[in-house]
Amino acid sequence: MLTRPTEAAYRLDLSGSQARAMNGESPMRALTRGFFSVVILSCAVVLQAGAPAKARVLIITGDDVSPAHDWLSCSSATRDVLGESGRFDVDVVGGAEVLANEANLKNVDVIYLMLYNARTPTLSDKGKDNLLAFVKGGKGLVVTHLSSASFKEWPEFRALCGRVWVMGTSGHGPRGVFRTVVVDKASPITAGINDFQQDDELYARLQGDAPIRVLLQADSDWSKQTEPLAFTLDYGRGRVFHHTFGHDAKALSTPEVQKLIVQGTTWAAGR
Ligand SMILES: [Zn+2]
Repeated sequence: MLTRPTEAAYRLDLSGSQARAMNGESPMRALTRGFFSVVILSCAVVLQAGAPAKARVLIITGDDVSPAHDWLSCSSATRDVLGESGRFDVDVVGGAEVLANEANLKNVDVIYLMLYNARTPTLSDKGKDNLLAFVKGGKGLVVTHLSSASFKEWPEFRALCGRVWVMGTSGHGPRGVFRTVVVDKASPITAGINDFQQDDELYARLQGDAPIRVLLQADSDWSKQTEPLAFTLDYGRGRVFHHTFGHDAKALSTPEVQKLIVQGTTWAAGR
């Protein structure tokens, strides 16, 4: 069985080569021996370490405007996309009150919001404090579709999302196909993604003034404006990835959107 060599063993091996060189072995042969020793030890380290640990994602779902959003099929589709990437262990829970117990977040790397909670109060103060502390402390948050309309009595949630859907102000035209443009090709979140056609709701007039880094955008016939559809922001020491796709499972089946979900969640996890 291979074991990970200790720092001491590593140093001992190198000093042994040097010692043999000093005792008459040719310097080149000693160097070669040392080189292969390092290679073998390095392989042992790689084999021992194996694949990197998967990031843990907690999808929080639930929707109070059913049947507008079938949160069960949307969260299932998202769980499958993340799980099949091989990068994540994914749990799905219904209802934001899971946030009220910090023990539920202990080993979580990314909280993934797929819910719209219309009723007030929407979340206990403890749940709100825990969500802010989670992100401020250096973890990741993903906000999707109508999730940004949640917790409307909670102003700090607007800052956390960067932009939010405000009932009566934000909107979209009829669901249909629109051209989505990649405006930030340097981000790891958009790597390998070119402009694409998306069959979805084109969210428009989201509200907020926090500095955001726009990744994707589209021209809205409804607002007559160019709208940010995917963007990031920093919050404390944490990372927020916000995309507005996902009216239904069909909208989440677009290959580019699936790639965006995987790469955006990877970025949010700090990987
Ligand atoms: Zn929708």
